[in-house]
Amino acid sequence: MKLSASIDNAMPELVAIRRDLHAHPELGLAETRTSAFIARHLEALGYAVTTGLAKTGVVGTLRNGTGSRSIGIRADIDALPIQEETGLDYVSRTPGLMHACGHDGHTAMLLGAARALAERRNFDGTINLIFQPAEENFGGAKIMVDEGLFDRFPCDAVFALHNEPNLPFGQFALREGPIMAAVDEARITVHGRGGHGAEPQETADPIVCGASIVMALQTIVSRNIHPMDPAVVTVGAFHAGSASNIIPERAEIVVGIRSFDSAVRDALEHRIRMIAEAQAASFGMRVTVDYERSYDATINHQAETDFVRDLAIRFAGADKVVDLARPFMGSEDFAYMLKERPGSYFFLGSRATGDEKPLHHPGYNFNDDLLPIGAAFWTELAEAYLARS
Ligand SMILES: [Zn+2]
Ligand SMILES: [Zn+2]
Repeated sequence: MKLSASIDNAMPELVAIRRDLHAHPELGLAETRTSAFIARHLEALGYAVTTGLAKTGVVGTLRNGTGSRSIGIRADIDALPIQEETGLDYVSRTPGLMHACGHDGHTAMLLGAARALAERRNFDGTINLIFQPAEENFGGAKIMVDEGLFDRFPCDAVFALHNEPNLPFGQFALREGPIMAAVDEARITVHGRGGHGAEPQETADPIVCGASIVMALQTIVSRNIHPMDPAVVTVGAFHAGSASNIIPERAEIVVGIRSFDSAVRDALEHRIRMIAEAQAASFGMRVTVDYERSYDATINHQAETDFVRDLAIRFAGADKVVDLARPFMGSEDFAYMLKERPGSYFFLGSRATGDEKPLHHPGYNFNDDLLPIGAAFWTELAEAYLARS
């Protein structure tokens, strides 16, 4: 059967899978229902299924022919702690949890490819379909790698995609080299001395000190980092106080930090610590800075990105394929798979009407019309990579 026909036939099943996953979102490393659902599906298709990597990760392996080459394709499976506000009839059944990043769609697309690949058997080698937990928070990709993912399931190359409501529907957006930023988080606690709001002279006001730190942090990117080096310092939260007549004991500032270059990353941490400590000292106060390095930057490899580009042009037409001029400042733990194996991570546009909500918005929904495109593309990608010689 032609691929397009087999994927068209599968469309009702793909939509049903996606909506079932959407109605049952689970947080990172707790995707037990999702994981069991995927494993059942892959087993029914004849895949050798391994569960338990990074707790809830699943790998489905399919061999064909005698070839020794292998490929890994990754889908992320976790949801977000967001209260859904879509009003869909398949809305999340778990209060406070939602598939707001489209990982339900990524999972359904890869399961669609799993079926087509198993039915067509049009490849020579080994396909590893990697269903990865905890992309949003705990770095499930790194956990899977640390638990021996690529030792147990050798992959000559790895690939992953993400839907993107800001890009036109069906557009493939790729980039050689850096595509997603490294992300770190700093928690700055200002230790003051609380008291009556009418007697500030008897206190050490952590709100004033904290506000000063927030303003001074704005100078790091503008004054300390090279203008051509991308970096972001965002104060995402400032917690302090409760009433106008009370000076609180402490203030907490939470900072999100993004960068690509490791020297820039070091400089950002150094300056954040220095500013927090020196500003506090100038107010006669003390800070503690809890600085946590999170995901590394996602860096695509050249040959595999060229491979995706060539295939996408054949698959969708040159007008549907763009090379991103700039990387995104968001982050992605597929970075850790790309540090172990060559590969490429790319975006698939989903903007159809222009009213789409962005990723991580309570009104976001994955565009089901992408399902056959993603499933067919993954199928063609695996078949092309493991083409019979
Ligand atoms: Zn996300
Ligand atoms: Zn995502």
